[in-house]
Amino acid sequence: MSTRTLHPFSRRQWLVSSGAALAGLALSSRFLNDELRAQVSPERLAATKPVKARLSLNENPFGPSPKALDAMLRNLTGGKACRYPYGELNDLLNMIAAKEGVTPAHIVLGVGSGEILETVGMQFGLLKGEVVHATPGYTQLVRSAETAGGKAVGVPLNARLEHDLDAIASKVGAQTSVVYIANPNNPTGTTVEASALKEFVKSVSARTFVFVDEAYLDIADDYAGRTVVGLVNDSRNLLVARTFSKIFGLAGLRMGYGVTNPKFAAQLRNYGLGTITGPGIAAAMASLQDAGYIESTRAKIVAERAKLLGLLRELGKTYAEPQANFVFFQTGRPHKEVFDLMMAESVAIARPFPPMLDWARISIGLPEENDLARAALRKVLAT
Ligand code: PLP
Repeated sequence: MSTRTLHPFSRRQWLVSSGAALAGLALSSRFLNDELRAQVSPERLAATKPVKARLSLNENPFGPSPKALDAMLRNLTGGKACRYPYGELNDLLNMIAAKEGVTPAHIVLGVGSGEILETVGMQFGLLKGEVVHATPGYTQLVRSAETAGGKAVGVPLNARLEHDLDAIASKVGAQTSVVYIANPNNPTGTTVEASALKEFVKSVSARTFVFVDEAYLDIADDYAGRTVVGLVNDSRNLLVARTFSKIFGLAGLRMGYGVTNPKFAAQLRNYGLGTITGPGIAAAMASLQDAGYIESTRAKIVAERAKLLGLLRELGKTYAEPQANFVFFQTGRPHKEVFDLMMAESVAIARPFPPMLDWARISIGLPEENDLARAALRKVLAT
């Protein structure tokens, strides 16, 4: 194995790429994540009508902590809307750094973690190398890299619909710019075995940059044992992305962050990443201080998810073992057919995930939305 010290961008590459990137940004809707992008695609817009249960975007309708709502309101009504939130920004950075066991220099904030995926993807894409990723998987970083000139190298999931770490590692070579791992994966909701992932990150980050997306990890069991954030240090080629959109229920505020080596974090910050708002900062800080609320949301999601899995078992449907707030299962029918039939029942399910076109992904909503979805599934899958 080569031990090339990888530093994602030389100063020159960074400057060259920034110019090209600016042009690209005007064309790409960089603040939309994959879920939103799919929702606003012409095909999807045509199919979109008001529904009783929107279970298509992996949102968390249990919503934010009441303390976060209160903090947001206090921010807005306390005369802060006219002030730049620089002081609060530092407070948030310090709070995140303390939580993750790093310094604020290791943290980069994002307008949703999606902004971090987009920007990192674009920058590595500009290096024209390969982006190694799992399929089906979350494509935001991969698509951004491809748009900028990178080459996507998809590696099929294994039989349990988990990342196949050995197969991914075998695709890493001198031509690789970045490896992207979403843990849990989207659309399957599966996690990678914790110690195997840690070994993978240690070994592969000596050869190329590794991006681990932990958007849904706080919903999984044993978060503390699974996160790879402890592997971030001052020089490792690793970025761990996290978001306030999922368990924290703040998708509308667009708040996320990455934990990485200070040099890379500084490069990303120079690029202008993370121009977040005062109410968003206030909500994020209050959320981080309300661990009890997060625990209760997790319990509700898991209980509702169990009901859906019960139905799928009863109907004899195969599903991926979920560790997030959505379930991916085999309907055995073309996606469009199931999508349309579910829409007729006023339930929106997710877009298709090629190549698994007779599977469907459905998010966990509020209990009444899930009741409706299960009744609809029972009807649709029985026909
Ligand atoms: N990563 C994964 C795996 C996702 O599924 C999503 C959104 O659904 C994101 C990142 C981006 O989320 P956000 O931009 O809201 O932080």
